[in-house]
Amino acid sequence: MSVIAANLQAVHRGIAAAAQQAGRAPEDVALLAVSKTVSPGIVREAFEAGQRAFGENYVQEGVEKIIALADLRSQIAWHFIGPLQSNKTRLVAEHFDWVHAIDRLRIAQRLSDQRPAGMAPLQVCLQVNISDEASKSGVAPDEVPELARAVAALPGLRLRGLMAIPEPATDPAAQRQPFAAMRTLLQSLRAAGLPLDTLSMGMSGDMDAAIAEGATIVRIGTAIFGVRT
Ligand SMILES: *Cc1c(COP(=O)(O)O)cnc(C)c1O
Repeated sequence: MSVIAANLQAVHRGIAAAAQQAGRAPEDVALLAVSKTVSPGIVREAFEAGQRAFGENYVQEGVEKIIALADLRSQIAWHFIGPLQSNKTRLVAEHFDWVHAIDRLRIAQRLSDQRPAGMAPLQVCLQVNISDEASKSGVAPDEVPELARAVAALPGLRLRGLMAIPEPATDPAAQRQPFAAMRTLLQSLRAAGLPLDTLSMGMSGDMDAAIAEGATIVRIGTAIFGVRT
């Protein structure tokens, strides 16, 4: 078995264990393989090991990879998970299936306008600044309901839920706190009538805590592909 295939298997085992611990079904937690800085050949290896969803942070790199792996295009869901500037929205709208880090209406409007007519709506999440760090991107929790309503109304997009990258913490209880706040925020949006089903949260270092608090997509790079250089 290749290293990548073995790593994927180990991550799946970790997801299953964390889900079971939380009384959740393992299949309710999807694995997004974060392939930033990883070559198309290695992504293909992960595909051959059964992985079907990949996350990219940089527009140019991501689009080049999608084109290099065009023969697999219909079988892969490509997620754009990085920060997005308005001059790059067109490439993302034309090539990706998901965008996780929407934090202002202007970007969402551009993505909706630029989504090609023949493609399914772009699946999107709002990035929430859940640890309230001045330097981090994401919308403040109290501004989420208004932005969610506006984004949900855009025809080229389908709002699926919320995404966060909390402040790093090593203690499991400290890791769970912002993820719990995300779960509560999603519940309040659902109670207000928005049909949301996605919490994109948890990376290699805090996956278990995110699953314990309801993550439906974990975004894992290092544990699959190794440490990025
Ligand atoms: C790089 C990255 C990840 C993956 O992080 P790892 O620690 O390598 O698992 C997840 N989400 C986002 C937004 C990232 O930029």
